[in-house]
Amino acid sequence: QKILDITSIRNDFPILNEVVNGKQLVYFDNAATTQKPQVVLDAISGYYGHYNANIHRGIHHLAEKATGAFEQSRRSIQAFLNAASSEEVIFTYGTTDSINLVAQTYGRKFLGEGDEIIITTMEHHSNIVPWQMLCEEKGCILKVIPINDAGEIIFEEYEKLLSERTKIVSVVHVSNALGTINPVKKIIEKAHEFGARVLIDGAQACSHIDIDVQALDCDFYSLSLHKIYGPTGMGVLYGKKDLLNAMPPYRGGGEMIKEVTFAKTTYNELPYKFEAGTPNIADVIAARFALDYVASLGKENIASYENELLEYATAALSEIPGLKVIGQAKEKVSVISFVMEGIHHQDIGVLLDQQGIAVRTGHHCTQPLMQRFGITGTSRASFAVYNTTEEIDKLVAGLLKVKKMLS
Ligand code: PMP
Repeated sequence: QKILDITSIRNDFPILNEVVNGKQLVYFDNAATTQKPQVVLDAISGYYGHYNANIHRGIHHLAEKATGAFEQSRRSIQAFLNAASSEEVIFTYGTTDSINLVAQTYGRKFLGEGDEIIITTMEHHSNIVPWQMLCEEKGCILKVIPINDAGEIIFEEYEKLLSERTKIVSVVHVSNALGTINPVKKIIEKAHEFGARVLIDGAQACSHIDIDVQALDCDFYSLSLHKIYGPTGMGVLYGKKDLLNAMPPYRGGGEMIKEVTFAKTTYNELPYKFEAGTPNIADVIAARFALDYVASLGKENIASYENELLEYATAALSEIPGLKVIGQAKEKVSVISFVMEGIHHQDIGVLLDQQGIAVRTGHHCTQPLMQRFGITGTSRASFAVYNTTEEIDKLVAGLLKVKKMLS
């Protein structure tokens, strides 16, 4: 294992030099989106400055160069996920788009009245609402795996929910609000015993955990590259080839067709069948540079460093009287959600911002999870590889100041 040079890593992220309210920025909102290293910024401007062209259909130099770079990104993501084929990598606008794609194509074609979909209590709204929309349309039933007070799913309760009626199990790999790592391999194995298909929401997992879709044997896996140092507005849906082939297309338009006549249209092959219209070319291209950047540091080195930050922060924050950490799973990533007695999370967010510290406050798009804990929201600090223990000290000092001002 390699010891990372955090000072040098910080120099790769120009935004960390920003001054906010007279203080050097402390950015602890990485679960919402991570900052981007210079190589990613350069890849975006490199595309627009030197080979901006629409892809796949052009035969001129720029179009070929852009197509080559775009498809190289697909192969990088294939390797990143260890997918069996690059045809199983569909570019989307993010996790939300990926889940909607599956609900609207696989779901609408293969699910009917009385079929059941299982999710967990800790899902992001983007892994709840698309299924509710499907249930409303098709008369399916949504079932929810309960969690314990530490924020872990209760596996026996999951087993009780499974039956021959279960058609889809859709579960978050890592909770954005709690940091919990779910035992997805076990969840997938169990679901498959009942012939159900499994989608994993990997929006948060991709930056912290090694993902091997073949080892997991998941049917679908969704990603948002902006949470792993890549650009916003692009993501991935991985799907097993036979499933993707069996699914109808999602959006109709250019690129996703083979031949169009007014009488009948035939559809393109994978992965293009699901990629109608001009995609987010620049950001797809730049995403590869983010993955290369992560690979150059080593994901296991990043995870180990982030874990040190988590332990440090958990110990330091727990010393603050009246502060309670929400989500104390045995297996968790570097996300720490907390509430403070008598102080509203929004006030914490505003007062920390005045000190240049960016945290997220509110329900984190997990309102049912907040209801489970009997709260309306939390303050959340989430750490990335460029964060430091000195910054955590600033957070602790900031919170003590908030407490002094408001209690
Ligand atoms: N699922 C989880 C667990 C997330 O954290 C997020 C982003 N906060 C999403 C889904 C949605 O991702 P996106 O907004 O990039 O579509």
